[in-house]
Amino acid sequence: MDTNHPKPVGMLLDAERCTGCYSCQSACRETNRVPFEEKWLEVIRRKPVMVDGEPQLYHLLAPVLEKCAGCVEGENPPLCERVCMASCLYIAPVEKLLPLLKKKCKWVLYTP
Ligand code: SF4
Ligand code: SF4
Repeated sequence: MDTNHPKPVGMLLDAERCTGCYSCQSACRETNRVPFEEKWLEVIRRKPVMVDGEPQLYHLLAPVLEKCAGCVEGENPPLCERVCMASCLYIAPVEKLLPLLKKKCKWVLYTP
C-alpha cells in the first residue's frame, strides 16, 4: 500500500446555518488570486422552501476540491473556512469529516 498517497480532501457544509453571504467565495478568490475566468468555490443561493409551514433557506456550495487539497496541505487553515461567520464550513480530509455527519441530516458532504 502506498502510504505517501495524499488523503482525499472534502468540504462539509451545514446547510441549515449557511446564510449564502459569499464571504467564503470572496476569500477563496482573493487569497488564491484565482483568475477572473475561474471559480474555485461558488456559492449557489437557492430560493426558500417551505418546511412545516415555515420558509427555510438551504444554500449550497460548488467547490473545486483539487484546489482545496492544496490549501489543506498548507500551514494555515483555509481562509474560506476562517471567514465564515456562521461557522458552518469545514475543509479537511474526508475521513475527518465523516464523523461530523452523524445525525446531521442537513449537512452536505462534498467529496472528490
Ligand atoms: S461564508 Fe459561510 S455562511 Fe457565507 S456563504 Fe460561505 S459557507 Fe455560507
Ligand atoms: S479550501 Fe482553498 S481552494 Fe478550497 S474553497 Fe477554500 S480557499 Fe478556496
